[in-house]
Amino acid sequence: MLLPGARRRQALARAAELALQAGFALAARRRTAPVRTAARFVIVGGGTAGLTVAARLCRALEAPRLTLIEPSCRHLYQPGQTLVAAGLFAKAHFVRPQRHYLPRAVTWLQDRAVLIDPERQVVVTGNGTPVPYDFLVVATGVELHPEQLPGLEGHLGRDGLCTIYTPEQAEQTWHMLSSFQGGTALFTQPATPIKCGGAPQKIMYLAADLFRRHGVHRRTQVIFATPGERLFGIDAYARTLAGVAARKGVVCAFRHRLVEVRAAQRQAVFAVADEHHPTSERHEVLSYDLLHLVPPMSPPAAVQQSPLAHASGPQQGWLQVDRHTLQHPRYANVFALGDVIDAPGTKTGAAVRKQAPVLVHNLLATLQGQDASRFRRYHGYTSCPLITGYGRVMLAEFDYDLRPLSTFPWDPARPRRSMWLLKLYLLPALYWHGMLRGLA
Ligand SMILES: Cc1cc2nc3c(=O)[nH]c(=O)nc-3n(C[C@H](O)[C@H](O)[C@H](O)COP(=O)(O)OP(=O)(O)OC[C@H]3O[C@@H](n4cnc5c(N)ncnc54)[C@H](O)[C@@H]3O)c2cc1C
Repeated sequence: MLLPGARRRQALARAAELALQAGFALAARRRTAPVRTAARFVIVGGGTAGLTVAARLCRALEAPRLTLIEPSCRHLYQPGQTLVAAGLFAKAHFVRPQRHYLPRAVTWLQDRAVLIDPERQVVVTGNGTPVPYDFLVVATGVELHPEQLPGLEGHLGRDGLCTIYTPEQAEQTWHMLSSFQGGTALFTQPATPIKCGGAPQKIMYLAADLFRRHGVHRRTQVIFATPGERLFGIDAYARTLAGVAARKGVVCAFRHRLVEVRAAQRQAVFAVADEHHPTSERHEVLSYDLLHLVPPMSPPAAVQQSPLAHASGPQQGWLQVDRHTLQHPRYANVFALGDVIDAPGTKTGAAVRKQAPVLVHNLLATLQGQDASRFRRYHGYTSCPLITGYGRVMLAEFDYDLRPLSTFPWDPARPRRSMWLLKLYLLPALYWHGMLRGLA
């Protein structure tokens, strides 16, 4: 059972979609003269980034020879998973058939890339099909690896362990949060890069509100255990979140890195860095009744094992790109975007929205023999609609230099009702009808 008002929310979401669909249908008529080429384009990964680039290439090219390699027949609007876990929408609201969003001109290979060979300019799929290319776009995102956190495998979704990082687990998280009877609710943030770094906090603030609504807050302690020193890497946003956490009675355990789960005992083991000597760590065990965590994430094996990825160092396995042009530093006909790239702080759909037009421009410039001085540049724009409770969102926008930015003419560090409405209704509609159509 969802929270009351589900039908009203559905109706508003539908209305927002219809309005934006009509607006973008008009925008779709405007097209610059398409580029004619016999070049073969391959996109690996048909998630947010892959489909957005596919749509933009189809708008820019006349009769494109474009192949998309994507194993899944369903397309996820992942930001919606937080709302599913908060009981606001059903899972089905954010999961749609992939084929509805594929441009007609695209050839879809429903398979996984298992080998990427940029020397021979070929991608090989799981069933052994070689797919040659002249230009390659890598957009595989990241994979979840629950087995890499000791003690977690087989326990997610039960034994008090939950995550919003898959649609199914998000649904299960809602069941756990809405039936929570009190105790210690522990929310964790990993030390490794994750998509939407703000998501673990969002679900915590929503959970704290929910516990109050259900009257279990007096017998509940909410703890946020994070490897960080504060709640956000940018002062203005960190100050706001510290206030939100304090008002909701959240206890922050900084410098805490989750290293093991003992599901049978409901205990979480943390490596805790010393405040003055960060390299020295001790272990601490916290008991919980409910534990929200983020499974370890990394690029798929095909990327990690390819010459496109960093072979060693702290970025090992992540796909190398020039973080401004999104072109590979050694293979000029390879571009990448989205969660898989090595650029810092940009693992969001909002970042993809700004990356995709830059990537497509630079790819076409390369195709037409232009040099890098004609390239467009991406400056690291990303945004995180940080839900600070039911009805309030702080739209935290920033760039590579961690400068706070604001799309709107007001202080971005203030949680607002208008941004909540944007998050629930406008951003999903913009996604399905603007971004995935190559128009936003
Ligand atoms: C809980 C949650 C909340 C979020 N909240 C927000 C938010 O509020 N705002 C925001 O902007 N972003 C948010 N995000 C992040 C956003 O969803 C991602 O950053 C975005 O989807 C990244 O796009 P991508 O295309 O790189 O990866 P994905 O969208 O994950 O797509 C990757 C695709 O590649 C495919 N693939 C993987 N391996 C292979 C292979 N070997 N061969 C072929 N295909 C492959 C996968 O099947 C998948 O379809 C959230 C994410 C989550 C999980």
